[in-house]
Amino acid sequence: MKYYNLKDKNEKVSFKEATIKGQGNDKGLFFPEFIPLFDKDFIANLGQFSDDEIAFRCMKDFVGDEIPEYNLRTIVSETINFEIPLKKINENIDVLELFHGPTLAFKDIGARFMSRCLSYFLKNEKRKVTVLVATSGDTGGAVANGFYKIPNVEVVILYPKNRVSKVQEQQLTALGENITSLEVSGSFDDCQDLVKMAFADENINTERLLTSANSINVARWLPQQIYYLLALKQWQQNHSEKPVISVPSGNFGNICAGILSYFRGLPVEHFVAGCNENDVVPHYLKTQKFEIKKTVATLSNAMDVGNPSNFVRILELFQHQFKDMQDAISGYAIDDEKTLRTISDVHQKFNYILEPHGAVAYAALKKFMHENPGNKGLILETAHPVKFPEAVEKATKCKVHLPATLNDLMKKDKKSVEIQPDFEELKRFLLTH
Ligand SMILES: *Cc1c(COP(=O)(O)O)cnc(C)c1O
Repeated sequence: MKYYNLKDKNEKVSFKEATIKGQGNDKGLFFPEFIPLFDKDFIANLGQFSDDEIAFRCMKDFVGDEIPEYNLRTIVSETINFEIPLKKINENIDVLELFHGPTLAFKDIGARFMSRCLSYFLKNEKRKVTVLVATSGDTGGAVANGFYKIPNVEVVILYPKNRVSKVQEQQLTALGENITSLEVSGSFDDCQDLVKMAFADENINTERLLTSANSINVARWLPQQIYYLLALKQWQQNHSEKPVISVPSGNFGNICAGILSYFRGLPVEHFVAGCNENDVVPHYLKTQKFEIKKTVATLSNAMDVGNPSNFVRILELFQHQFKDMQDAISGYAIDDEKTLRTISDVHQKFNYILEPHGAVAYAALKKFMHENPGNKGLILETAHPVKFPEAVEKATKCKVHLPATLNDLMKKDKKSVEIQPDFEELKRFLLTH
């Protein structure tokens, strides 16, 4: 499989190069040169296959012979070595819990796959890679955990001081070893700007091989297909109809992976993109106008994105046919008030605790079902409620408890390096460490 640059179709690279480089010339995203279809019998009988086998079959066409079968099987098995259960909330709505990984967020899955691929590719090389990421909270923890102690990989994470939760900060700063956290006296946007400047800086790039670990990277984007298959495997046990799948969306990497698996033959009735007040895509789906906006801060902060970077991949999947896209995806913007009311309602009526991102997906799915009666569906719950305790406790009046697996982490010392939101400071750090 080759990958082409969406901004320059003449630039074609292997899976290995796409993983190491992250993005192409002119910051273009890489995209697979063809869509490998699923075997029909496989998809109709997912229940007969182990999760590991499903994950392997999902990924093998994208990796080709660049990683031998034995190693790829190990990589995918390690990627999903925690439970990914589909649970029933009520008669019409199930929830796929994607938060049982080490950092309690679905980003663990992409980060674990990418880090292991990168490690395989660098094993016999003298090159060292620096993974540089800005985080508003969740990405950094998943990346730190996924790349912890991986040989030949240094990780540098920038996060905004005093703007991440306690659990998130421990996940970013307590590991040490090859993980360095820079605590920036500024906002998430400052962090992101600094990272962008570093990627564009000639001095830094001659000294270090930089890559990014957000969903722009194909090795983080593509493995997200796996849990759509695992959802369908569980769904098929109790349903004959196809599900509507509602995805809490920010950068649109997650839903785009789901849509890719749909194009490969996964039976899905419809996709719902649940957004918060950052509603660029819902607006586009109504008007065909893509209007980038300044980011608004919300309770579902991992989706506070004003210019979703993966949207170009969705356009490419639909070959820019607006009508086809409208037939397959609906988008809804859910404000904070509705988000809190949804957490509260679902807790009271069904005794299930959602956190703000899952609540946005739930409310969006309800809207779709109201407009299109007779459907059944599932939502993706992308984080554990304990990562967003204020909102959850406010809405449910219940205390959310830390899972026992986090006790050790919470006791560890915080190690971070404070910097001002000043590019020269970041540059000095990257050139001297
Ligand atoms: C990152 C994140 C999202 C958004 O996923 P995208 O792939 O960027 O659309 C949703 N929920 C949580 C909890 C996240 O961390």
